[in-house]
Amino acid sequence: MTNQERLDAILRRVSDQHGKLNAKQQAYAIREIGRVRGDIADLLADFAGADGSIERRRLNRLLRELDEVERNIRRYGDAAMSGIITETADWTTTRINNGLERAIGSAGVTANMEQINRQVVNYVARRFESDGLVLSDRVWRLAGDERDKIASVLRTDILRGESVGTMIRNVRRVHDNDTWKIERLVVTEGNTAYRAAADFNAKASEVVTGLRLHPGIKRSKGCVDLANEDRYGLGKGVFLPGDSDVYNPHPNCTSYVTYEIDSRWL
Ligand SMILES: [Zn+2]
Repeated sequence: MTNQERLDAILRRVSDQHGKLNAKQQAYAIREIGRVRGDIADLLADFAGADGSIERRRLNRLLRELDEVERNIRRYGDAAMSGIITETADWTTTRINNGLERAIGSAGVTANMEQINRQVVNYVARRFESDGLVLSDRVWRLAGDERDKIASVLRTDILRGESVGTMIRNVRRVHDNDTWKIERLVVTEGNTAYRAAADFNAKASEVVTGLRLHPGIKRSKGCVDLANEDRYGLGKGVFLPGDSDVYNPHPNCTSYVTYEIDSRWL
């Protein structure tokens, strides 16, 4: 087996492991953002009368209290996403450098790993997506959408004279219907952090000359087309380190890169 083949196999395995890490991170983000359900239950308990329902005349005041609920969703969401990106950058840099060391030896290893991780976190947090938003804006939009749906559920339930117990169940349904949005956010951001970290390490390594992009699990058009492109005459799907087109071919993308190594190290 050549060094190149050894490294390819290692980086494919790292990609599989990253998929498992990302799945755990999705569950974590859903749990963290779901903490707001407790805040809403407390709020409803404060507004409920002795009969367990909320008087209509208190409806507008209750709806104004949802400002705080929206702020909390943003707070939990921002904290969860920032933790996930930091963890992913650190995890990826460590795994990739272990792989380089095993396949090639210490010559492949990157210096300044902490600096690389900081750069990855900054990149992911500050980049503008195709929707013209940065990450914190997308968390805000998610929080706003959810607040609107919660407001609508509570308004209807209060006008109908439903009990707080029913309202809590209906709010829970809003969350459950929205978990796919959180999953998509974590898949997109986590995988962007993963591919960006792979590239930043490639740039810093003396032995890496190219990044080979492999399409994601769903083989979407965005990443399949990119993986079929021979942009630099180096072969299909081979990009130069620093080419940010491979960071996020499309939302929800699980594509990954392997490294092309310099002929001296083959
Ligand atoms: Zn893809």
